[in-house]
Amino acid sequence: AAQGILRRQALRESAARTYARALPVVPVRARGMTVEGADGRRYLDCLSGAGALALGHHHPVVLDAIRAVLDAEAPLQVLDLATPVKDAFTDELFATLPPGLAARARVQFCGPAGTDAVEAALKLVRTATGRDGVLAFSGAYHGMTAGALAASGGAPSSGPSGVTRLPFPYDYRCPFEVGGKHGAELSARWTEKLLDDPKGGAVDPAGMILEPVQGEGGVIPAPDGWLRRMRDITAARSIPLIADEVQTGVGRTGAFWAVGHSGVVPDVMVLSKAIGGGLPLAVVVYHEDLDVWPPGAHAGTFRGNQLAMAAGAATLAHVRENNLAERAATVGARMLDRLRQFATGRRWIGDVRGRGLMIGLELVDPEAGPAGEAGNATPARAAALPADPGLAAAVQQECLRRGLIVELGGRHGAVIRLLPPLTITDEQTEAVLDRLTDGLDAAIR
Ligand code: PMP
Repeated sequence: AAQGILRRQALRESAARTYARALPVVPVRARGMTVEGADGRRYLDCLSGAGALALGHHHPVVLDAIRAVLDAEAPLQVLDLATPVKDAFTDELFATLPPGLAARARVQFCGPAGTDAVEAALKLVRTATGRDGVLAFSGAYHGMTAGALAASGGAPSSGPSGVTRLPFPYDYRCPFEVGGKHGAELSARWTEKLLDDPKGGAVDPAGMILEPVQGEGGVIPAPDGWLRRMRDITAARSIPLIADEVQTGVGRTGAFWAVGHSGVVPDVMVLSKAIGGGLPLAVVVYHEDLDVWPPGAHAGTFRGNQLAMAAGAATLAHVRENNLAERAATVGARMLDRLRQFATGRRWIGDVRGRGLMIGLELVDPEAGPAGEAGNATPARAAALPADPGLAAAVQQECLRRGLIVELGGRHGAVIRLLPPLTITDEQTEAVLDRLTDGLDAAIR
């Protein structure tokens, strides 16, 4: 049956499908972090719906919340009408916000995906400031709709879309970026210089958008000091700072919101994935001073998904009440520790990095010699070997063979990414590490 489904999918679905190619699993049942395929095989799931399933599959508190909506015969879709379910979700959401924002926050329900909320955030700051430009970072990922896509991307450049790309502090690999010990400071100075250049009239930013930990870009945590510098730089110039916490939110990085590590309070937060408890939900939260758009300025049919709000409220409450952010920090540190030990002496594991339960291993080709342009090499550049996406793909397959689902990412597709649920047990943690390290060694042979 599984083979038939895969064959028909390959014939009928878009050539743009991705996961289905690398992960020929036909999931039929799932609970916690275990997924069972149609062929009866069981996998430990470190993809977690690309981070949407903070509590894993079918967590009882999420199921109960969904059942309660159904049992009450509450309407499932309500546009932006007020409901008890939305009221409860908003209560929970506001209870988790950074203290500097919570008291004066507004929420705009968008929908249903992260990329929709990114569009809303960009539109909001453009409306509020009357300016058009957007400051974004190399390697960023914000989504697949036009505005979000324009703010995503590669090397620093000034694009045609009003987006100016700045260098993200990527300490390990930086062909066009700033890295090394002083990377964060160089990035900050670059940004200041650009904004204060009297000839830089083309840069008239309505806002700056950043990920506190770049996810799709290769699991790259922004240094806390760098985030604070960006906050200072934008605040001094009245440029709203947008934190895209679509992937980093809800405890994932070891703080409820990743901006919490640095104490930075953004003007705008873009939230999706885990806030819907696995169902589609996306919101923009922002300072009330920005709330100057008129009624109807941002609309959408699927802003009122009550099942998602109920599942999301239950998820937010469970993560908060059970301190799962702290648990993510502890388990993540344990995983990083063991993976770093494992990487010692294995030159093809170029870098092991992450924050909380957002972990990445960048695979490189030691045979190919150092990457980067001669004469333009910082110490970090000199150290970085060329990325090896082929090896990363092989590791993913070896992991799958061992019953472990992992995701790939990074600028070159050479980063193995782990996004296990925050509910991962100690036993599961060890099993993930065993299967992953076995898979890594098997792929290199
Ligand atoms: N922002 C970030 C940081 C993301 O990681 C993603 C999705 N990976 C998005 C935005 C887009 O979310 P969606 O896929 O739900 O549109």
